[in-house]
Amino acid sequence: MANTTTELEALLMQRSLTDAQLIAAAEQASDFRILPDATVIKIGGQSVIDRGRAAVYPLVEEIVAARNSHKLLIGTGAGTRARHLYSIAAGLNLPAGVLSQLGASVADQNAVMLGQLLAKHGVSAVDGAGLSAVPLYLAEVNAVVFSGMPPYGLWMRPAAEGVIPPYRTDAGCFLVAEQFGCKAMIYVKDENGLYTANPKTTKKATFIPKITVAEMKAKGLADSVLEFPMLDLLEQARHVRQVQVINGLVPGNLTRALAGEHVGTIITAS
Ligand code: ADP
Ligand code: MG
Repeated sequence: MANTTTELEALLMQRSLTDAQLIAAAEQASDFRILPDATVIKIGGQSVIDRGRAAVYPLVEEIVAARNSHKLLIGTGAGTRARHLYSIAAGLNLPAGVLSQLGASVADQNAVMLGQLLAKHGVSAVDGAGLSAVPLYLAEVNAVVFSGMPPYGLWMRPAAEGVIPPYRTDAGCFLVAEQFGCKAMIYVKDENGLYTANPKTTKKATFIPKITVAEMKAKGLADSVLEFPMLDLLEQARHVRQVQVINGLVPGNLTRALAGEHVGTIITAS
């Protein structure tokens, strides 16, 4: 590949970094997965952790058992406390970047709590999933807890409308999975997966076992069970080309999903 490297180097020195030929040359670089054997699971904030013990204890048990045969990066959502903060901060006319910091602090709190519950099993919570000691934790105890909010903070790209940060914990966990080239991304929430409408408010909503990003957008489901920008991240991903959304309130679902079973909804990039 010496040739392509030389070509890329020449292009990098001469062209803008958004030059089409330069981008094409950079694309030639071979794929490298940093943590190919790990699976990222996101434990929902509002949907799971906010339900407290009844929802969290059984999941902790499943996680402890599962990590005997799987390497798990466990991200946390934020949830109701973040929504409360967003409502106050938005009412004060504070910007998306500030709301992003506030939301991150709640996902941090959830990571702290989950970390304490898993502590006696040797599983630690880390500050920021950026590599640091993550590979060591995975090698030693097969699991690590991280806070799911992407660390954009004040530099959060604002949405076209409003001040709610568009990239929250669904996106944060997905980006960890994608950047590390992980095996799978599983969202643990409180519904069986994706429905034709929000099952909490629409009684006649029907379950969708499998769907593509394009189909979700066509059906107007772009902003539903997952954060809206997640779909674009998935569509453009190199490594993680599908995600699974499961009901974590049903015992055994996480174990089955980790075993590769089709529980819940599978959303595919194409
Ligand atoms: P998290 O706790 O992981 O942030 P959310 O509460 O943000 O999860 O998202 C899950 C929720 O999305 C479900 O509890 C459900 O009420 C809602 N939802 C909205 N639209 C849909 C849909 N079309 N299918 C399934 N769930 C939906
Ligand atoms: Mg959410």
